[in-house]
Amino acid sequence: MPQLGFGVWQVPADEAATAVTTALESGYRSIDTAAAYANEEGVGRAIAASGLPRDELFVTTKLWNSDQGYDTALRAFDTSLERLGLDHVDLYLIHWPMPDVDKYEDSWRAFEKIYADGRARAIGVSNFQPTHLNRLIQLGGTVPAVNQIELHPRLQQSVPRAFHADHGIATEAWSPLGQGGDLLDDPTLGEIAARHGKTVAQVVLRWHLQLGNVVIPKSVTPSRVRENIDILDFELSGEDLARIAELNTDTRIGPDPDTMN
Ligand code: NAD
Repeated sequence: MPQLGFGVWQVPADEAATAVTTALESGYRSIDTAAAYANEEGVGRAIAASGLPRDELFVTTKLWNSDQGYDTALRAFDTSLERLGLDHVDLYLIHWPMPDVDKYEDSWRAFEKIYADGRARAIGVSNFQPTHLNRLIQLGGTVPAVNQIELHPRLQQSVPRAFHADHGIATEAWSPLGQGGDLLDDPTLGEIAARHGKTVAQVVLRWHLQLGNVVIPKSVTPSRVRENIDILDFELSGEDLARIAELNTDTRIGPDPDTMN
């Protein structure tokens, strides 16, 4: 799985086709979409038009909450593949655990069938807390390959990250730039960025890479799409990393996975 990918949440289907084309032309090879983003079709169009060999691409999509359950998940997966115009995805994720609905074990059994049939090269989850992950692990089958969670300098998620590391689960960061909010005006990040001759967005994305996170920033602005992948030519020092560690306030932007239903 490429450590740096491109996210398309809140991008309408037509705009997603344009944005994904820009991303592929800029060198991204991993695209993160979801049934709930209503743009799988646009993503698929851009992939087909790119002419890139399928095995050079890494495509992720997600099962939406209303489709949780065994049969419903299988049907939703077929629909996602159809919209993407693909015969397999590289990663299929349960979007949210929905603990009060409590169907994620059934959904996971459907995911294991999809995986066994070779129609998803890997299966994983999103927004799962360690308690939810433990239930899947205790089923004794496939351990999720990935958990995609909200993660940025204000929500560093040290407990889930340690749990993932213990169980061989990759941590993937959503809203890695804090959705482009006032995080990008932070003076500490600004000082580090100026010293490296980079932008704050580049410093934040570099921080993710050095922590070992998979990262999927979103932008529809071509210059920013290129800026966000241009992060391989510098390295944050131990002192930079220690200063960024202090920015954690455990503040979520998105919903709490324990109460999102
Ligand atoms: P993000 O942290 O990637 O921020 C995106 C916003 O930051 C952009 O809309 C833009 O306003 C700004 N931005 C981007 N690049 C910039 C740059 N170089 N300079 C200045 N500003 C810049 O937020 P996101 O879109 O919420 O998260 C990324 C991806 O994560 C999504 O597109 C989606 O694929 C995924 N995601 C998943 C979940 C989930 O529940 N699994 C939830 C949210 C997002």
